[in-house]
Amino acid sequence: MKVSLIGPPGSGKSTQSERLADRFGIRHIYAGDLLRDEALRNPTVRESLRQGSLVDADIVIPLVAKEIRRSFGYVLDGFPRTMEQVYGLEALHESLDAVIYLELSEPEIVKRLLRRHRPDDTPEIIRRRIDLFHSESDPVIRYYAARGLLHPVDASGDVDTVTRRIYGVLSAVLDPLGRG
Ligand code: ADP
Repeated sequence: MKVSLIGPPGSGKSTQSERLADRFGIRHIYAGDLLRDEALRNPTVRESLRQGSLVDADIVIPLVAKEIRRSFGYVLDGFPRTMEQVYGLEALHESLDAVIYLELSEPEIVKRLLRRHRPDDTPEIIRRRIDLFHSESDPVIRYYAARGLLHPVDASGDVDTVTRRIYGVLSAVLDPLGRG
């Protein structure tokens, strides 16, 4: 299975991706973590993370591609975030089974992130990451919707509830006739 989880910061992508990876025995490919690791070597990446801006596609795509090439199945966490990254993924001739879009209202996003205490979770940087999500990822969402791959999931509520919603979507995708 090959899926991508997209959603605004704080929508629970990572928690849910981890669960999916465990449940289906696939690799969790987490763009944010690959970049935090890359930031240890690369000051430009470090600066983008600090400011909450997106890291260049030239850096992100190869990091993710390397992980993809090592896996049979995977859940992409926070990738693709831009159309450039969508094209980067297509160039690898990977076909996703589903794109799960975790939807969360803005007040709920802010509330969750302020609780999290990561260094890039300050009010100004949160604002920037939400704005970036809309400007960069809305086209990505429309793109996958047009291809019939997009599955919006309500990301409010507790972790188990959201996990159940995602499993519901994926079982319909993997077994459209409902035989399983
Ligand atoms: P969040 O989903 O809360 O933004 P992540 O851990 O997924 O948290 O990402 C943290 C930061 O890493 C982002 O603010 C951005 O700077 C960078 N980043 C993550 N994924 C990407 C990506 N696909 N392309 C470019 N930058 C990214």
